[in-house]
Amino acid sequence: MNTIERDRRRVWHPYSAPQADPIFEVVAAEGMRLTLADGRELVDGMSSWWAAIHGYRHPAIEKAVASQLETMPHTMFGGLTHEPAVALCERLVEWAPGDFERAFLSDSGSVAVEVAIKVALQYWMARGEKGRHRLLTVKGGYHGDTFATMAVCDPVNGMHDFFTGSLAQHVFAERPSCRFDEPFEEVHIANFAGLLEAHRTELAAVILEPVVQGAGGMWFYSPSYLKRLRELCDQAEVPLILDEIATGFGRTGEMFGSDHAGISADIVCLGKALTGGTMSLAATLVSPEICSTIGGGEPGALMHGPTFMGNPLACAAAGASLDLLETTPWRERVAAIESQFRAELEPCRKLPGVTDVRSLGAIGVVELDRPVDMARVQPAFVERGVWIRPFGRLVYAMPPFIASAQEITALTDAIGSVLTEVH
Ligand SMILES: *Cc1c(COP(=O)(O)O)cnc(C)c1O
Repeated sequence: MNTIERDRRRVWHPYSAPQADPIFEVVAAEGMRLTLADGRELVDGMSSWWAAIHGYRHPAIEKAVASQLETMPHTMFGGLTHEPAVALCERLVEWAPGDFERAFLSDSGSVAVEVAIKVALQYWMARGEKGRHRLLTVKGGYHGDTFATMAVCDPVNGMHDFFTGSLAQHVFAERPSCRFDEPFEEVHIANFAGLLEAHRTELAAVILEPVVQGAGGMWFYSPSYLKRLRELCDQAEVPLILDEIATGFGRTGEMFGSDHAGISADIVCLGKALTGGTMSLAATLVSPEICSTIGGGEPGALMHGPTFMGNPLACAAAGASLDLLETTPWRERVAAIESQFRAELEPCRKLPGVTDVRSLGAIGVVELDRPVDMARVQPAFVERGVWIRPFGRLVYAMPPFIASAQEITALTDAIGSVLTEVH
């Protein structure tokens, strides 16, 4: 039996039936290319879900991981510390927009959001306000697949009906309707403002993704909405959690999504591109006020501690990825990708079944009126030499920042031709 046949018998893939769709075997990844077992090379349009921003096998990241491996692949983080983790937490606190005191490291984005929620709940417990259990968020969000995070994902796309009874009941405002480049007006946030006021005393925090809602719909909304939301949270004295797991580290054209609005959160979640796509690592950054309140209240400790917390190999990879963000012209590259997506995806607007085309930073999106037939569309992209993986009604690309103009054109050509000939 070959690998694919063995996979079909024993492996479960993300969001997949036990015996899933066409699966391709990948045997190597380098720069912008994925190599399949049959020798075909694909231009990567996904960055392995936002993560591989510098392309695959970047020598600087590999070197950092290899040299860390020589001294210490992992130790527990309870009672022990090490330079890779300390250096990384220092840098994250310094880099993130706003005033943060410390970073809590974990092993995936979902866990970073779980920790953020726990921090918010413990903050209010430490202040003696025990009734604050609910979160306010907006529809169309995505924050992870664990139970606490699913409860703040979009109620329709986020499988709430399916898991009713197992999910905490939170408060959902309308999705920010004001597009990224549209003029914002107070009416756009009236629904959110009303819910914030109505539920103020039972809210532990507000949580949302800044400017780009990712897996919940690839929706780009006005930075002015976010700015106003920050003011409303301040007035209501409700902490703001920004989930920068998808938007962090340059994807939207700024280093962080919240930079578009010039605001900062009280708690920030980072993940995905943190290690440049090399290993799983995430972080939750917390403001000085929340840190000191938790430290001064009951039980005086943050009640969380993943086994692989602060893994030195992952921290070394993250350090090297941050170095690359300091030394490479990612801002120019992302801006160039954005203008190329805008120009080259625009003709898709005229195709039958296309309802919207939008681009921001290194993200290009074509939205359709019905779900993509993955059994036909996925192999069609592979035949055209690109790796693009649509979901639902969305065909989108978010390539590594190192993509050349020709490689971006390979992606946009493939999208145009698949939507014309196959979909
Ligand atoms: C991917 C994602 C998560 C979850 O991260 P995992 O590493 O998959 O657990 C949370 N929030 C946002 C915004 C994401 O894009």
